[in-house]
Amino acid sequence: MSKIARRKFIQLSAVAAAGCFVRPGAEARAQGMPQLSEDDPVAKSMKYTHDASTVDPASRANPAAEQHCANCALVQGEDGEAWRPCQIFPGKVVSANGWCSVWAPKA
Ligand code: SF4
Repeated sequence: MSKIARRKFIQLSAVAAAGCFVRPGAEARAQGMPQLSEDDPVAKSMKYTHDASTVDPASRANPAAEQHCANCALVQGEDGEAWRPCQIFPGKVVSANGWCSVWAPKA
């Protein structure tokens, strides 16, 4: 398995695993949840940043343009919120302008 294929497999596995923990109909609320730190070890492993514009598109495994948390399939909460829950980082909120390597397009 090539390095890129292995990375993609790991990312898709993380997405699938996150989906197992999400209860249908249980909408996450951002209120009262702490913001995810860029220094969080899991956030670092996923290359999370509060500012997606700082990420070189050429460094991403997924080539889709305009990637940020607000248009990611894994974000929760309400459109327009600056900080929103994410299925990958339970109990924390991520910046709507953020990004991580697990980004996936909405269907
Ligand atoms: Fe969560 Fe998607 Fe943002 Fe990654 S890009 S932190 S998976 S909302």
